[in-house]
Amino acid sequence: MRKNIVAGNWKMNKNLQEGVAFAKELEAALAGKELKCDVVIGTPFIHLASIASSTKLGVAAQNCADKASGAYTGEISAAMVASTGAKYVILGHSERRTYYGETDAILKEKVLLALANGLTPIFCIGETKEEREKNIHFDVVKTQVEKALFDLSAEDFAKIVIAYEPVWAIGTGLTATSEQAQEMHAYIRKTIAAKYNNEVADNTSILYGGSANGGNAKELFACPDIDGGLIGGASLDVEKFIPVIEGF
Ligand code: PEP
Repeated sequence: MRKNIVAGNWKMNKNLQEGVAFAKELEAALAGKELKCDVVIGTPFIHLASIASSTKLGVAAQNCADKASGAYTGEISAAMVASTGAKYVILGHSERRTYYGETDAILKEKVLLALANGLTPIFCIGETKEEREKNIHFDVVKTQVEKALFDLSAEDFAKIVIAYEPVWAIGTGLTATSEQAQEMHAYIRKTIAAKYNNEVADNTSILYGGSANGGNAKELFACPDIDGGLIGGASLDVEKFIPVIEGF
């Protein structure tokens, strides 16, 4: 059975003290609520150990290196992320692809290292506005999945969480309609079924990301192939994040 997941992505926001305080506040606010999803927060690297050791919330890194270890100044390996107690790592976010030149080939290495270290990749895919206007969005998303993930065994693929994040919707206030999101999520699931099988496809959690918030989460999460969200802006304030979590 696939899981419902609401994962926050703080990006490069909050210093350590603010992050730790946020996690405690969120955990306290959720205590006693009957949650219908797992809650994860994607923090900067320096927060991981403190938050993972002081809360029961799921914790995600926002990246990891494409090398296992060695002379790569400034990089953080998947093993290091795992050693903090974080269980997830966001990989392939469009900001990493665009600003840091992360290619499908690089991401493939990162996914392998994440899995080898017991981390669950939250693997981001999505088309740009131009690609949607050219009507090539299905092909773009299919290629991203194929190139980075489809060399995995079915057993390893089953450990991946996908986040469909149309680039034109990230941080823009332009949310995909629930019809657009559902259509793409169903297509991604069909693509996974064709490569692996129906069971693997049915068990894959596919999250939506792109200006999701407390006002649209319910409608998005009600779609049969949308299993939660990857949430940027609305994950930065507890009072904005909780209505998203309660979208389930
Ligand atoms: C994101 O960064 O993954 C994201 C979806 O951001 P936002 O919710 O702000 O669009």
